[in-house]
Amino acid sequence: MYRVLSLLAFCSILMFLTIAGAGVAVGAASSPAAVQGVLDLRDQDLTAAKQVILHGEWSFYWNQLLTPEDFQREAIEETASIVPVPKEWNDYTINGQPLPNEGYATYRLHIRISSDELNQPKALYVPSVATAYKLWVNGQLLAKNGIVGRSSEEMVPRNYPKVVRFTPESETIELVLQVSNFVQRKGGIWQSFRLGPEQQILRQYDQNTAYELFIVGSLFAMAMYHFGLYALRKSEKSSLYFGALCMAICVRTLTLGQTMLLRLFPWIEWEWSVKAEYLSPILGVVFVIQFIHYRYGTRSGKVRQLMIWCAAVLALFVLVTPALIYTRMMLTIQLFILLSFLYALGEYVLTALRKKEGMLLNGIGLFGLLLAIINDILYYNHLSDYENLAPLGQLFFLFTQMINLSSQFITLYKNVEKLSGKLRQMNRSLEETVRKRTSKWQQANDELAKANEELFRMEQSRRRLLSNISHELGTPLTSIRGYIKAMLDGVAKPGDIQYLNVIYDKTKLLHRIINDLSELTRLETRQISFQFEQVAAIPFIRYLCHKYGMDVEKSSLQFEEVVINSFAATDGRIAVFDVDPDRIEQVFGNLVVNALKYTPQGGTIRFEVEGEATDDVHGTVTVKIIDSGIGIADDDLPHIFERFFKVAGQPSDGAGLGLAICKEIIEYHQGTIGVNSRKGEGSTFFFSLPVRFVTPAESEGEA
Ligand code: ADP
Repeated sequence: MYRVLSLLAFCSILMFLTIAGAGVAVGAASSPAAVQGVLDLRDQDLTAAKQVILHGEWSFYWNQLLTPEDFQREAIEETASIVPVPKEWNDYTINGQPLPNEGYATYRLHIRISSDELNQPKALYVPSVATAYKLWVNGQLLAKNGIVGRSSEEMVPRNYPKVVRFTPESETIELVLQVSNFVQRKGGIWQSFRLGPEQQILRQYDQNTAYELFIVGSLFAMAMYHFGLYALRKSEKSSLYFGALCMAICVRTLTLGQTMLLRLFPWIEWEWSVKAEYLSPILGVVFVIQFIHYRYGTRSGKVRQLMIWCAAVLALFVLVTPALIYTRMMLTIQLFILLSFLYALGEYVLTALRKKEGMLLNGIGLFGLLLAIINDILYYNHLSDYENLAPLGQLFFLFTQMINLSSQFITLYKNVEKLSGKLRQMNRSLEETVRKRTSKWQQANDELAKANEELFRMEQSRRRLLSNISHELGTPLTSIRGYIKAMLDGVAKPGDIQYLNVIYDKTKLLHRIINDLSELTRLETRQISFQFEQVAAIPFIRYLCHKYGMDVEKSSLQFEEVVINSFAATDGRIAVFDVDPDRIEQVFGNLVVNALKYTPQGGTIRFEVEGEATDDVHGTVTVKIIDSGIGIADDDLPHIFERFFKVAGQPSDGAGLGLAICKEIIEYHQGTIGVNSRKGEGSTFFFSLPVRFVTPAESEGEA
């Protein structure tokens, strides 16, 4: 990533250099120089796309504002001094006297051209002349800038480059230029005039304008972008200072070179445009220092404070004094700017040592900027041919910074993306956890609901049980009380055997009910200890059938014992179960007694035994007691094993506890009990018990 950015920076250097080449390279070296006020260009081909610099010895008339007509008089020509151009006039010495900054003068130059150049359209590039001028070419007033005057009150300063077009009709071109300066340090022609074919000069002028507008536009957009960033995120102070820096350099660029500021905004006074030119770099360095501080977290040392204070003092000075005074401070200001940049460079190097990101790009950017600034200082001291490279250097520097900032934002954005991804993942797993927990909770809830239901049901059955008990006990008690009362009241004879028998029966019933109830309760609460033993299943059941079959036979009913299927493929092994034989007999007996009770005379009772193997070792044995009795209605069937359940309207000497006891006993043996019945057709009560297959040797202790 960083390598890509560095490559981008390198490409942008090439791009900027191309723009710079188009905009500012002048190539003065080969132009001949004027001698004694005459520039001989007769052997120069001015038609080829080439321009010459009008440098060398010009005629100069100090403290005189002369027009071309004035030169008709020879006497005037004799007052001429010969001076080097371009150069500020305060560097001239006339009659051994150095000239002051302030004053006025007339420049004159004769240019000789070959006859081939006649009637070919030419153009003259007139640079920024300090600080107002009037220009005649071959006696014609072709250009002026500001108002030339003999005092500061008379003159109005204005200086920005212009292009003057003319067509030479003779082989000598005469330039006459009146100049006055009462407003600033520099006076006179301090930059080069250039002469060339009209197309060439105009193109150069347009290119310079385009170059500067490109830089101004880029800087302005960058400034606005960073102000926008700052507005959105106030904590990002580096964006604010970066934007301010872009803006300062933008303003500085507008005031230099083509002086776009005055061309774009003609209403701005010259004094203010110069203030802007001086203030922008002073504030610019403050912004640079602050930007570096906030962006890279450099030490907030005393040097930084000092730099800011110096800048503040200089800026104030520029604001309150006129250009005439503060422009003399140019060297101080340049020195200050250079020092500030050296300080900034130092901070960069220190930051680089601390391995902060983006240092390579910063280094490249700052180096480019430093080169441009050094070039401009050399240019303004006539030691370089390349004009006004600082804006380009600055744009380049800012550009590298912008790449850095963008890479920072991209890193931030990537981090945000990564975090969002993680967050999404966490959310998902959280949802999963919540879902799981909810389902567990749901399960727990269901169980709770079931338990509640069970509790409710148990509570209901407890109430029913209590009311059943009081009812079952109450009925015989009431009749006992009735009989005794009858005897006491003399309605019945005391000691009447008939009544006493009834009372006796009722107490037997009461006893039975209480016994059954107590047995059932002890069964349900597992308070009865069963005497489990391993019993050979079929012989034991057969024994029961035989024993109770005799009871049936004694009654008026027919008895059939049928034993079907006593385990076919058991390889000589026998089926055994672990039971309490007395309890199983109790169940069997109970079912037989019921069958006898509810089967009318002439009916039949049949026992069936069925053995079934579930696998090699296990199986079940099912015993059925089938009667052809009164049967049970469908509605009553589901309740038949419930405590105290008695079919309504049937005479019964029990309390409806017998079947409930059977159920408890069978379930205690891991078996099942049930009934199939149809009203009027008889009933089949059955119970099944689990059995194991063992060898006869293993089946010791059978019944
Ligand atoms: P109880 O001890 O009062 O006889 P059970 O629990 O043994 O009570 O029987 C409950 C009810 O089931 C009886 O009141 C009777 O109506 C019905 N019942 C039981 N066995 C039979 C059967 N073989 N045929 C028809 N009804 C029966």
